[in-house]
Amino acid sequence: MSERNFVKPDAQFINDLKKNGGESLKKCYQCATCTSACPLSTEENGFPRKQMLLAQWGLKDQLLEDPGPWLCFYCGDCSERCPRNADPGETMMAMRRYLTSQYDWTGLSRLMYSSVFWEIGILATVAVVIVLFFTLPHNFGFGLLSRSGPTALSTVMLDRFAPVGIVDWGDRIMATILGLLLLINAARMFSGLTRGEKIPLSSYITQLPHMIIQGVTQIRWKDCGSRSGIRNWLRHLFLVSGYGIMFTLVVVFLPWFQVNDTSLHWTSFLGYYAAAVLLGSTVWIIVDRLKKKTGMHRFSHFSDWLFPILLFLAALSGILLHVFRMTDMAMATYVTYMIHMAIVVPMLVVEVPFGKWGHLLYRPLAIYVAAVKSSVRESAMSETAAQSQAVQQI
Ligand code: SF4
Ligand code: SF4
Repeated sequence: MSERNFVKPDAQFINDLKKNGGESLKKCYQCATCTSACPLSTEENGFPRKQMLLAQWGLKDQLLEDPGPWLCFYCGDCSERCPRNADPGETMMAMRRYLTSQYDWTGLSRLMYSSVFWEIGILATVAVVIVLFFTLPHNFGFGLLSRSGPTALSTVMLDRFAPVGIVDWGDRIMATILGLLLLINAARMFSGLTRGEKIPLSSYITQLPHMIIQGVTQIRWKDCGSRSGIRNWLRHLFLVSGYGIMFTLVVVFLPWFQVNDTSLHWTSFLGYYAAAVLLGSTVWIIVDRLKKKTGMHRFSHFSDWLFPILLFLAALSGILLHVFRMTDMAMATYVTYMIHMAIVVPMLVVEVPFGKWGHLLYRPLAIYVAAVKSSVRESAMSETAAQSQAVQQI
C-alpha cells in the first residue's frame, strides 16, 4: 500500500478551521443536500459535502490536493438548503482562508486570519512606516518637513513633496516583492493540487487560455446562486476592472499619471473610471453586508469587512487628493497624498500576498488545475474506449 493510502487526521487543522470561521462544521451529518443544491458542483468536482467530510475527519493533506474550495464562489445556496444549519457556504470560505494561510510560508497569513489584533497591527505598522517616510525631517529634498521639500505652501508642488522618480522606484520595488511572494504562494498551492498526478506538459499548455479567461472575467460566478449570481458577478467584474486599472496606472504609468500640470489627459479619464467603480462597488458591498442581504453576505468575518473598507478608503482619499490638487490647496494635497499612500501601500503589500486578495490568483489557478486534470482524465478515457473498440473488432 502506498503512503498516500494512509489517512492522517490533523487535529490542529480542525481547530484552525474553526478560528477561520468554520465553527458550524460539527453540525454537518453528511446528508449531501448542499452538493445537490450547489449550481457549480459537478460529478467530477463535487462540493461542498466532500470538503465538509475532509474537514470533519481532519484530512488536511487531502484538502490541500482538492481544488474544490476554490471552485465555490460563495452564493450561499447550499447554506440556505442545509437542514442542520451547518453553513457549508461559510465553511468553504473558512477553508479558503485556511488554505491561504497554508500557501504562505512566512506565517503572517495565519496570524492575520486568526487574530484581528495581528491583522490591524501589521497593516498599521506598514502605514506608520509610510507616514514616517513623508514626515521625518530629512535632506533628500522631499517630504513634509524637508527644508528643500514643499516649502511652497502657496501653491501645490506635488513633485517636490513626492518626486515622481522616487515614488515610481518605490512602486516597482513593491510590485516586484509582491509578485515574488505571490508566485511562491502559487507554487506551493500548485504543488499541493498536483501531488501524485502525472500530467503531460501539453495538457498544461492547451488549458492555459482557460486560466487567463477565468482570471480576467471570473465568469463562472454568473452561474453561482439562484438569485444573485449575475448581479454579484458584474459587481465583482467592475470592482476588479477598477482595481486593475488603478494598479496599472500607479505601478506602470506613474510618470504619466502623477504629473505636475492639472490639465486633463488620458490617464485622468482612466483614473476617474477606476475611482468611480471602486467607490460605487465597495459602498454596495458594505451596504449588502450590513443588511446581510444575500447568502454570501449573511456572515462576515473580520477580513470580509477589511476588504471593501480599505478599497473604499483608498478610492475616497484618491478622489480628495485630486480635488485638493485641482483647487490648489497645497498643505491639504500633501497631507492627503500621505494618507492615501498610508492606505494603499499596506493594502497592497499585506492584503494581496497574505490576506483575502490572494483569491484573485488562487481561484483561477485552481480552476485551471481542475481543467487540466479533467482533460487528462478525458483523454485517458477516450484512449481506453479506443483500445476496447479495437479489441472488439479483432
Ligand atoms: S453541510 Fe448540511 S447539507 Fe451539507 S452534507 Fe452537511 S448537513 Fe447535509
Ligand atoms: S456557496 Fe454556492 S458555490 Fe459555494 S458550495 Fe455553496 S452553493 Fe456551491
